[in-house]
Amino acid sequence: GDTIGILGGGQLGRMLALAAASLGLKTHIFCPEPDSPAFDVTADFTIAAYDDIGALNAFAAAVSVVTYEFENVPGPTAAHLAARVPVRPGPTALEVSQDRLSEKDFLSGAGIELATYARIDSDDDLKAALERFGGRGVLKTRRFGYDGKGQVMLRQASDQRGARRAIGDAPAVLEQLITFEKEVSVIVARGVSGQTEVYDVTENRHEHHILKTSTVPASVSASTAATAKTIAGKIAESLDYVGVMGVEMFVVADGDGERLLVNEIAPRVHNSGHWTEDACLTSQFEQHMRAVAGWPLGSAERHSDVIMENLIGNEAESWEEILREPGARLHLYGKRASRPGRKMGHVNRIRPKSA
Ligand code: ATP
Ligand code: MG
Ligand code: MG
Repeated sequence: GDTIGILGGGQLGRMLALAAASLGLKTHIFCPEPDSPAFDVTADFTIAAYDDIGALNAFAAAVSVVTYEFENVPGPTAAHLAARVPVRPGPTALEVSQDRLSEKDFLSGAGIELATYARIDSDDDLKAALERFGGRGVLKTRRFGYDGKGQVMLRQASDQRGARRAIGDAPAVLEQLITFEKEVSVIVARGVSGQTEVYDVTENRHEHHILKTSTVPASVSASTAATAKTIAGKIAESLDYVGVMGVEMFVVADGDGERLLVNEIAPRVHNSGHWTEDACLTSQFEQHMRAVAGWPLGSAERHSDVIMENLIGNEAESWEEILREPGARLHLYGKRASRPGRKMGHVNRIRPKSA
């Protein structure tokens, strides 16, 4: 039968492997870190560096398709594997989303609305861009940023030299500072045949730059919700995407209505899609496994309202209370040690569907 290779052994890889198993699909996890959460749930795994050619060759020979649970898969690793076995999502999605500048260039080229942005390689670039943006903006490294790491907010009379130094003078983009009403995301899945399934819009709240809750339905107008889903579908289409993708958006007031600006995309299952496990006919994890295996997608229909809460650091220690809560579905990742800011699990609190 089919064995799906997964690069990365964190909680996303673990939940992908669990979903695969429920469909009778085997998984083989490839990850450099010995105590990876995904290793607990699959018999087949490889502990090796992403540039270990021998290990990559053996991995490629053992699987029928390769996918990944993080977007920073080294380019040479993806290319080496892609020469031997299908890699899904494909190289375009990976390259585009590894670099904020290429992602923004690609999205705006596809007609997607974004916050205005500028390429920043020097102090002079930053000065010029800030003048254009009225002295305010968000400076973000082009690569490797997550949970707000690698970004600095700039306001009037701020220290420009200090801001670039704070991100190690790395190649960056400056974005216009957006005054948003709320943040939402859309999880979209696209199959090998081009079949597309789009999940309901999620409203996201962050604490200390880390996702804390995802609420569905989101409190946005029906037309904004429909537009958000259309945008996500259009992005998946323009990337000729195969798999599940997360699209983060800002909802911005626009006269009497609302406008949407895309913040960033993630070429993988997404934390703001964890609610689909317990509120939809097909979870994002099963959906991703179906898509990369070349199987038909399942329905993304939602049967319940839900609030997903991330359990961060020592919050997962209250798991016994959560187990007693009616309507709560607890998911723990089996991580050995908790650290401040570390995602240890999540809980989906389910209610009957309202709208
Ligand atoms: P993630 O963990 O989601 O990958 P990240 O480090 O890639 O995070 P972003 O998603 O780009 O960073 O930004 C983190 C948060 O900072 C956003 O969710 C939003 O709250 C805020 N933010 C980012 N860009 C802007 C902007 N241009 N204007 C206003 N707020 C912003
Ligand atoms: Mg990001
Ligand atoms: Mg983000």
